[in-house]
Amino acid sequence: MYRGGGGAVYLNISNRCSSACAFCLREWTDGVYGENLVLAREPELEELTQAIELEFLDGPADEVVFCGFGEPTMRMDLVLAATEWLHLRRIRSRLDTNGHGALLNPDVDVPAALAAAGLDAVTVSLNAADPESYDLICRPTFAKSYRAVLQFAEQCLRQDIETTLTAVDFPGADLEGCAAIAGAMGVGFRARGLASPRGRDHAEEGEAR
Ligand code: SF4
Repeated sequence: MYRGGGGAVYLNISNRCSSACAFCLREWTDGVYGENLVLAREPELEELTQAIELEFLDGPADEVVFCGFGEPTMRMDLVLAATEWLHLRRIRSRLDTNGHGALLNPDVDVPAALAAAGLDAVTVSLNAADPESYDLICRPTFAKSYRAVLQFAEQCLRQDIETTLTAVDFPGADLEGCAAIAGAMGVGFRARGLASPRGRDHAEEGEAR
């Protein structure tokens, strides 16, 4: 867990991921903001909620973000339980995801479950305006995951979760194309600068992706 520059608290719950993005911080550093984000082991719910309570003793945060040095929906049960915990306490929650939640959890209606748990917002990393570029940039484990990422964002929107697509400003990235896709879908769009370990560009919000 760490506090970003934008008034948010970030939860690092897994280092596992279903992508291997060409720009991923994990390729070349151990963390952001000087925080080492390599987990010796993944946290359980009680450890997470205790850590949030301790963090909030230092002052409130605008939101709590499931982010990490990995893909949070690798730990869907924990995301749902922690989201409920936050929602009960009226703390805004956001999921920062590669959009593979449904592929990783085929037995769960992930957008519906997130909405039922009380998730306020989701930020989905799109990073490309077409499937071929997506496969080259994000190097996903799953075949045909680009369509699944778009579907995930569409379904989150339908569940009334505040939805934003993002794209990292990587050499060759079609940011305008990604923005057009977001516009057509009716969700927000944000371009992110490439992150640095000190976290002032795309990690301006403290995010690893
Ligand atoms: S940037 Fe995010 S989605 Fe891409 S490999 Fe890294 S942790 Fe996974």
